[in-house]
Amino acid sequence: MPISRDDVIAWLSAYSQLLADNKEYLTQLDSSIGDADHGVNMDRGFKAVLGKLPTVADKDIGTILKSVGITLVQTVGGASGPLYGTFFLQAGVATANRMELSLADWASAVEGAINGLMARGKANIGDKTMVDALVPALHALKQAITDGIDEYDALRQGAAAAEQGMKNTIPLVAKKGRASYLAERSAGHQDPGATSSYLMFKAMVDAWTK
Ligand code: ADP
Ligand code: MG
Repeated sequence: MPISRDDVIAWLSAYSQLLADNKEYLTQLDSSIGDADHGVNMDRGFKAVLGKLPTVADKDIGTILKSVGITLVQTVGGASGPLYGTFFLQAGVATANRMELSLADWASAVEGAINGLMARGKANIGDKTMVDALVPALHALKQAITDGIDEYDALRQGAAAAEQGMKNTIPLVAKKGRASYLAERSAGHQDPGATSSYLMFKAMVDAWTK
């Protein structure tokens, strides 16, 4: 399953649509343990990304992903803007000058992106952040590729692991970000950033496994 530049654009469009559809939900999650802006932030950022895509749609995958990162840093704000911005910038570094990727190439670009996000945010698994969805998703995707299972199923397993990681944030006490100010009171609520990260993996399934 080669992943083309057009596939990457289809993924970004699918993610943008999911964020628009889940804007109220993400904001509602953030109102419980944050400042009620995560859905608005992400929707604003990805609307801006969609607006910029036509100007880079004829470029290589790395250029497209770097442009997404820059746009997110400029438009999302909050904690998630620089974190998702770093994710896409690093994904762009890993895919510089590439017009097509294998699924294994894609998984290693996602790995570089997650490593960049974690270096920036200093959150680990269990801190009740987007990392709790991203890291299990990457591990499941890589394992599925190693096991040689059907590539569409590998993407589905990645998304399923992200969803489980997202749900696993509910009982956790937040150690990073705004929710950590609530200490024990942050337990019992699903993390908004883990939810938007799950949607990012779900968008791969929506866009690529028709
Ligand atoms: P803010 O908290 O500044 O209002 P958002 O509401 O857009 O920003 O994003 C909040 C989300 O950001 C949290 O739900 C959490 O998943 C994520 N987050 C916050 N701090 C970190 C961090 N240091 N590392 C990883 N993710 C983080
Ligand atoms: Mg917020």
